Amino acid sequence: MATLLPSIRETYFGVKALLQTVAEDNAELTSLQARLNADPGIPVSNPTTSFWLKNTPFLDLVDKRSKTLPKYADIVIIGSGITGTSVARTILSECASMGINRRVVMLEARQTCSGATGRNGGHIKCTPHESFCEYKDRFGVERARALVDFQTSHLPILVDLAKQESWDLAEARQVETLDVFYDEEVWLDNKRKVEEFRKGMPEGTRDTFVWEKGEAHEKYNLGGHAYGAITYQAGAIWPCRLVTCALDSLLRTYPSDFTLETHTSVENISTTRNPNQPFIVHTSRGDILACHIIHATNAHTARLVPGLRGKLFPVRGTMTAQRPGKSFPKLDGSRSWCLINKKGYEYVTQRPGQVDSIDGLGGEIMIGGGMIQSGRKGFGEFGVASDAETNYLTGCHLGGVLPMGFGLENWGEDAPGGRMKNMWSGSLGLTADMMPFVGRLEPSLTGRTPVKANLSKDAVGPVTLPAEWISAGYNGEGMVNAWLCGVALGLMVLGREDISAAKTSGRPHGKLDEWFPKEYICSQARVTNASVYELLETR
Ligand SMILES: Cc1cc2nc3c(=O)[nH]c(=O)nc-3n(C[C@H](O)[C@H](O)[C@H](O)COP(=O)(O)OP(=O)(O)OC[C@H]3O[C@@H](n4cnc5c(N)ncnc54)[C@H](O)[C@@H]3O)c2cc1C
Repeated sequence: MATLLPSIRETYFGVKALLQTVAEDNAELTSLQARLNADPGIPVSNPTTSFWLKNTPFLDLVDKRSKTLPKYADIVIIGSGITGTSVARTILSECASMGINRRVVMLEARQTCSGATGRNGGHIKCTPHESFCEYKDRFGVERARALVDFQTSHLPILVDLAKQESWDLAEARQVETLDVFYDEEVWLDNKRKVEEFRKGMPEGTRDTFVWEKGEAHEKYNLGGHAYGAITYQAGAIWPCRLVTCALDSLLRTYPSDFTLETHTSVENISTTRNPNQPFIVHTSRGDILACHIIHATNAHTARLVPGLRGKLFPVRGTMTAQRPGKSFPKLDGSRSWCLINKKGYEYVTQRPGQVDSIDGLGGEIMIGGGMIQSGRKGFGEFGVASDAETNYLTGCHLGGVLPMGFGLENWGEDAPGGRMKNMWSGSLGLTADMMPFVGRLEPSLTGRTPVKANLSKDAVGPVTLPAEWISAGYNGEGMVNAWLCGVALGLMVLGREDISAAKTSGRPHGKLDEWFPKEYICSQARVTNASVYELLETR
């Protein structure tokens, strides 16, 4: 008896703990489902303060708006992030080149570019070997190559755009990036993926190198916990400065065709019986009649497009700006990193310049991630649409990971002023099939059917039937998707997909289907098939 009781007790408590986990998991799943299917609402009015937005050179753009809201627009763009801006630039410049005018009004719920584009990591990186293998399994080798090509083309396009337009403030640059591995299994798996990538897309791997532990430590000042590193080319940028440079230029170039209306949230959309202005956009400042509506609202899209609830949803991410330790190498913004663990990772860039005073700008390490450390297996942040708070556990992790990742000896003493300069959060837009949604929105998704218009053969300029459109859901990789998705959407709205265009700043050459992935096109069928359960199982 004396030995049996403890063993029964152990079994009993074991079973009890197991039942509790199952019950907790069930409760967790029910709560997760409810969050993902919920209306994400309008962006909150009290967001955390992002380093990027705090240091803006365009003070007159921050709260820019007209005295009275325009009553009519050919095209209403909802959202002033990188997507909305790219769509606006494409439409306005295409129309100018055709000698026609289209009135474009951009509506923004808060300050200019205050959503994800003003709060992200600014890392222009798509981890091509990983993406290639994932896409190859899903779509076959040829499409994997096309998808990786599309994403990697953002780096030269964005760097060239900033250079051509003299937007130096955006700090758009190429960097040498390192994927550093702190888990042996993940390290071995990634080396295998590099091999697969080399076989399937050799031209994409010319600058990809694999560094085993010893050589990686010596060449790249890594901490003792790292198993090795994979290096290749990526980029970094001050994202909201690229956007504000572009918006400033659009407002000056097209003063009578383009207006930006901040602090104007779209609360609802309804339809009229007028075929030329079939939509009424109901905003916090009054109504606007519109012919086309572009949803460039990222994580909040399902607010106005109810058919996307549970298919495109917000996930809260946390970002920080930190002062490098005294021994950290002075790299002048030329390198970036992903610190990759068993599950989850941190993405890290460093701004050009050096920290020369407590309040001075330069050399900040911009690090985000730590989602898996946020508690509740990382899913606690799924379905959270508010950027008014940061996650406590993620904050603890991001605050401590740098000296550990790079090694205490390579980090040295903390800089005067301390390590942490800023911490903030932002909403990522995730899709249930992990691919962006781009294109015309079917009425079954919006719940609104515009009255049929008759397209006039004599119409001047491009003609497409009035519609609602979307470009959103970049799954945390907006810097390698959003700009060209915006260009593609602008061309679709104008019915210019089949025009073979020359390469210009911010845009590739050729017809749309020569460079834009068909897998991104939004359709009711794709939305119906996209399953969040697959996402939960594979991540
Ligand atoms: C913390 C964090 C870190 C990230 N790091 C990276 C990174 O390093 N690299 C990378 O590639 N990607 C990163 N991303 C993802 C990237 O930032 C986004 O994919 C990209 O910025 C999306 O741009 P957007 O213009 O579509 O959306 P946003 O920039 O979010 O713009 C949408 C705008 O719409 C407005 N809006 C929403 N609803 C309404 C409404 N009803 N009425 C009016 N206005 C409305 C919002 O206020 C917002 O300004 C990160 C995202 C986050 C949140």
